[in-house]
Amino acid sequence: PVRDVAFIGLGIMGTPMAANLVRAGHTVTGYDVVPGAVERLVAAGGHAATSVADAVEGAGVVITMLPNHPQVEEVVLGAGGVLESAKPGTLLADMSTIRPETSLQVAAAAAEKGIRVLDAPVSGGEAGAKQAALSIMVGGEAADFEAAKPLFAALGTTIVHVGPHGAGQVVKAANQLVVGGIYALVSEAIVLMEGSGVDPKTGLDVLAGGLAANRILDLKRESMVARRFEPGFRIDLHHKDMSIAIAAARQADVSLPMTGLVAQLVAAARAMGHGSLDHSALLKVTEQLSGR
Ligand code: NAD
Repeated sequence: PVRDVAFIGLGIMGTPMAANLVRAGHTVTGYDVVPGAVERLVAAGGHAATSVADAVEGAGVVITMLPNHPQVEEVVLGAGGVLESAKPGTLLADMSTIRPETSLQVAAAAAEKGIRVLDAPVSGGEAGAKQAALSIMVGGEAADFEAAKPLFAALGTTIVHVGPHGAGQVVKAANQLVVGGIYALVSEAIVLMEGSGVDPKTGLDVLAGGLAANRILDLKRESMVARRFEPGFRIDLHHKDMSIAIAAARQADVSLPMTGLVAQLVAAARAMGHGSLDHSALLKVTEQLSGR
């Protein structure tokens, strides 16, 4: 088993994930453009690198946890990037949420260098990252999935090989469009009840026990009714993910009208200046549409 891991992108998610790999006994060398992020990894028992190439040298596995596809392109495909620096046989697991198309491009470019790639985006948020309880949806070769599985087991609890390259990103896009849709409809339920003079807390309690039950109702109905929108998962990131879902739909030549609508609601939330609030702040858009 590979013990030497390079971890690139030590943000909200990457920092606790890298720390969990250290805890599981891996030698983790990290790099981030923000020096403070690297220092946090060192404090957790990891090692500091001064560049992508420096982090990747000698590593058997490279993990990237970056904001979006331009950063993945730069770090993986760019000058001094992972493909230029890693030795053949290295396994690259990109755990960022990006469009499936880019995962396919990365896999093709990596194959030419003898580097194996998995797209392995996650669900579960910062709490899931800290508790090593993430859901990990993995696209790529079955043998590479098996090789990476023990490593993923240090990061998450639901670890599933969902198909070939890009399939992990497709499943993540599906996850995000469902989550966005649920927030939009829970928001409408709240606005309807309040507009009708019915206590929304009592109403949502009933919904949470019936066919409309879901995890967002379980975890967020109280904070939504109380209008507490501190993140969590920011509107800005969900806006990115809805754009990924729309791009994936175009690529697959399918029509997703509800996704289009939810994407526009998320765009409205952002345009209204709520990009840094939790995605449950979709409620603010729904209220405004009713003049509330
Ligand atoms: P973040 O912005 O906190 O972390 C990204 C890190 O990448 C930052 O520390 C940034 O400095 C670093 N970075 C950017 N460009 C770089 C480069 N060229 N070289 C090295 N480092 C670079 O974001 P996050 O919340 O950790 O999310 C990372 C990914 O995981 C995103 O794709 C996001 O959509 C996804 N995700 C986030 C959550 C969540 O709840 N935050 C949940 C699931 C999935």
